Amino acid sequence: MLEIKNLHVELEEEDKQILKGVDLSVGAGQVHAIMGPNGSGKSTLSYVLSGKDGYEVTDGSATLDAVDILDMDPEERAAAGLFLAFQYPVEIPGVGNMTFLRTAVNAQRKARGEDEMSAGDFLKFIREKAKSLNIDAEMLKRPVNVGFSGGEKKRNEILQMAMLEPKMCILDETDSGLDVDAMKLVAEGVNALRSEGRSFLVITHYQRLLDHIKPDVVHIMADGKIIKSGGPELALEVENNGYADLLAEVA
Ligand code: ADP
Ligand code: MG
Ligand code: MG
Repeated sequence: MLEIKNLHVELEEEDKQILKGVDLSVGAGQVHAIMGPNGSGKSTLSYVLSGKDGYEVTDGSATLDAVDILDMDPEERAAAGLFLAFQYPVEIPGVGNMTFLRTAVNAQRKARGEDEMSAGDFLKFIREKAKSLNIDAEMLKRPVNVGFSGGEKKRNEILQMAMLEPKMCILDETDSGLDVDAMKLVAEGVNALRSEGRSFLVITHYQRLLDHIKPDVVHIMADGKIIKSGGPELALEVENNGYADLLAEVA
C-alpha cells in the first residue's frame, strides 16, 4: 500500500536535513504506529506525505499502490486515496461543516474524473457515515471546528476520514491536547474504519492510544530515521523504559 524508501528531506528555507533515510512499508489493511522522541521527524514525515510546502525531498521515494505520490499536488494525493489528519485541525468560520465536507468529497470525485454527488445523495451519504460513527447530526450544521472541544474536533476529523473513504490514513496525534476521552475517540474511529483495503499510519507519543488501536507494527523514529520496528510489545517497552535504552542500542 504505502512504500517509503530511503526518504531524505531537507527544510527548504535552511539547509537542514530532517529525514535521513526513512524506510517504511505498510501493507493493505495494516495499522502501523510511529513513536519517537520529540524532534525526531515524525510530523515532518506526515507533512511531506501530505505535500505541505517548505520541505524538499533530496533522495528516496514514496509510493501509494506503486504510484509515486511525491510529485502529486495535495488534491491529487487525496484523489489517490491518501488522508491526513493533523494535530491541529483548522477552524473555518462561516463555512458549515456539511458544506466543507461536500466540497472536499466533490473535489476528490472531480480529481478522479467522477461526477459530483447530488445534494440529495450527499445528504444520505453523510447521514449514514455520521450515524455509523455515532456523530450527532447537529455537528454537521456548525461552522468547521469553530468552538469545537478537543473531542469534537477529533470526532470531526474521523468523520472527514470516513467521508473520503481513503486507502491510506495518516494520523499525527503527537502533541498534547489529547485527553483520555479524545484518545478513545480516535481509537474507536480508527477501529470503526479499519478494513482489508484500508491502512493506517498512526503517529503518537502515547502508548495508551495503542492499547485501544492495537497496531500490527510499531516503529521507533529517532533523528530522522526508523531505528527499530517490532510488534505492539515495542510500544510497551517504550512506555516502561523510555527511549534511552533504544537510542543507546542503536548508538
Ligand atoms: P516530531 O514530530 O518527531 O516531534 P518534527 O518533524 O516536528 O519532529 O521536527 C523534526 C525536526 O525538524 C526538529 O528539529 C524541528 O525543530 C525541525 N523542523 C521541522 N519543521 C521545521 C520548520 N518548518 N522550521 C524549522 N525547523 C523545523
Ligand atoms: Mg514535535
Ligand atoms: Mg510532531
